[in-house]
Amino acid sequence: MKYIDMHCDTLSAALGMGSKTAEHLEGTMVDTARLRGAGAAAQFFAMFLCQGNQTEESESDKVSRLEERMEKMYEIFRNTLSACENYLAPAGNFAQMEENSRNGKISAFLTIENGYLVRGDMANLKRFYDMGVRLITLTWNDANCFGVPHSAKISQMQQGLTDFGKEAVRYMQKLGIVVDVSHLSDGGFYDVAEAARKTGTPFVASHSNCRALCPATRNLTDEMIRTLADCGGVAGINFEPSFLNTDMDDKISRVERMCDHICHFIDKGGADCVGIGTDFDGIGGQFEISDCTKMPLLFDALHRRGLSDDLIEKIAYGNVAQVIREAMK
Ligand SMILES: [Zn+2]
Repeated sequence: MKYIDMHCDTLSAALGMGSKTAEHLEGTMVDTARLRGAGAAAQFFAMFLCQGNQTEESESDKVSRLEERMEKMYEIFRNTLSACENYLAPAGNFAQMEENSRNGKISAFLTIENGYLVRGDMANLKRFYDMGVRLITLTWNDANCFGVPHSAKISQMQQGLTDFGKEAVRYMQKLGIVVDVSHLSDGGFYDVAEAARKTGTPFVASHSNCRALCPATRNLTDEMIRTLADCGGVAGINFEPSFLNTDMDDKISRVERMCDHICHFIDKGGADCVGIGTDFDGIGGQFEISDCTKMPLLFDALHRRGLSDDLIEKIAYGNVAQVIREAMK
């Protein structure tokens, strides 16, 4: 089954492994040699920027640290692309993904997790677009120029985007960078939804599950799922056990539990609002799907639940492909 995975932290993992990994991302959950046999049509590769709240670090030190970190992950991405050019190729929009497919190649989309380095300047968004970035997860778990992250504190959770954040979302839509609300506050989510309604440009929650099934504040409420669906958006099923299980101390990531979340998304938001966002290499626990080669376990399980082939194809590929077609340029 061909699939698109909207989120992995493999570049960050490869950076952490230093010389122990090489161009094929050996030792990660998205080892490209294995990705080739996994059925992937496209893999999104995030450059994760770990902002941290070290008070002893000055603003300018933080900027240089994160710029340097991003540059290193970008280098790993480019080295991987050149080492695997026979079967992996960059893509920046739907047409390029289709062309790669016709050439028998998997598409690699470059993304940023945490928009900290935008630093209130639209010129940085253009710089990232020119690097090839086609999706930005607005925040990670710290506040930045876009807004604040998800939180158990109601006052923070209800806080919306900053004025700059609202403007930047419109500029991202214009450039063709997909807006990603995973990690964002609920208030920020609704501000993005409002922008999406106005412009008719869908957004995503690239790696978030259902809060009704697992109380993690990283997950989406039923109302958010309906709103996301109304805007033509998609949420990617995250394989992290503490975002899947009702008991957040249960550290086993089970395929059946992924199916429960997928069915809940369909129940609340319809057949078009759910896709895949594994979060490979950014998650911890014991995994039934321990790397990309085991993805068919998920599609087989959905089959056993009685979902039609057409519906499984939409979850694996079609729904995210539609967002790429509408929101990326
Ligand atoms: Zn994440």
